[in-house]
Amino acid sequence: MTEDEDDDDLYREITFAEAKKERKQHIDWLLKGEGTKDTRRRAKLLQRCRKGDRCNQDECPVCARRTRCAARRIGSVAEAIYPRFKAAIF
Ligand SMILES: [Zn+2]
Repeated sequence: MTEDEDDDDLYREITFAEAKKERKQHIDWLLKGEGTKDTRRRAKLLQRCRKGDRCNQDECPVCARRTRCAARRIGSVAEAIYPRFKAAIF
């Protein structure tokens, strides 16, 4: 494997299914152990996160992925309107 391939893998966006799996693991992690009032509250928020009613928590992999995807869409729209947009940034 070359270094280039490593980089590609690093910046690969996770799939929705992977994000959901990660969220479940994060909820399990929050609920195990002592579990303060705060961790239980955060776990509950993540558990209630679903289509049309997102939790928008920074620690929610599904919402974090959605934010990244939306940012990318805005980026490509700007690029279509201003062809030199990308060149100006990168
Ligand atoms: Zn969420």
